[in-house]
Amino acid sequence: SPGLYIVATPIGNLGDITLRAVEMLRSASAVACEDTRVTGKLMHHLGLKKRLIRYDDHASENDRERLLSLMVEEPVALVSDAGTPLISDPGYRLVRLARERGIAVTSLPGPSAAVVGMTLSGLPNDRFLFAGFLPNKAKAREEALAELGAVKATLIFYETAPRLDAALSAIDSVLPRREVAVARELTKRFEECRSGTPSELSAHYAAHPPKGEIVLMIGPPSDELPENVDIDALLLAELAEAKPS
Ligand code: SAM
Repeated sequence: SPGLYIVATPIGNLGDITLRAVEMLRSASAVACEDTRVTGKLMHHLGLKKRLIRYDDHASENDRERLLSLMVEEPVALVSDAGTPLISDPGYRLVRLARERGIAVTSLPGPSAAVVGMTLSGLPNDRFLFAGFLPNKAKAREEALAELGAVKATLIFYETAPRLDAALSAIDSVLPRREVAVARELTKRFEECRSGTPSELSAHYAAHPPKGEIVLMIGPPSDELPENVDIDALLLAELAEAKPS
């Protein structure tokens, strides 16, 4: 039936496409996607040929209106290059407008790198905060880390290989005592998840420059120690105050 169908696709391993996703892509009249070449490959792999409509971050009001009028009449699937649409990917305005206009919207779940990375990391997951990509500029990045670092939850970020070094250095200066995990190439052949202190991971990736896609995670603050304190100074101050026994 007509409407908007949000369809998650694999984040690397094509075996992760769901049965429902395949059925939906088969019955959709059109597939809205970020990059027609990327989605074209997936469709080809599934043996499907459909009208692909580009819908990315640069989509105009006009592009959106055209898609919205199509989904009033026909089933339209929305996919992104990889994983779950809308999660650091386009789609939220489209969903919002579709809902406002009474168009049926449904979401077919599947992989998302943030969740896959978190489940592998060994970090506490009773509370987590997904924060997308860190800012590009050094100062904004440190400010974001200081702000998010106060939250009592595991923090999850998306990263790219060329920026990992800068992100780890920033964590080392703002949240040096936290446990950090780097998950790379999830669901793919060279999948890896490595944990340590920010400085340990910095040193490791300086020696082994990372490739591929990355989920970067920071463990929650420990209850015992305030962040960014000089432990030696703290202990010396306490000793100085302590009464001789
Ligand atoms: N919508 C996607 C999802 O649900 O996972 C995320 C899209 S975002 C533009 C792309 C980022 O997701 C990458 O820079 C990387 O941080 C992360 N990512 C995607 N696939 C990944 C994988 N196989 N392994 C690790 N990280 C991945």
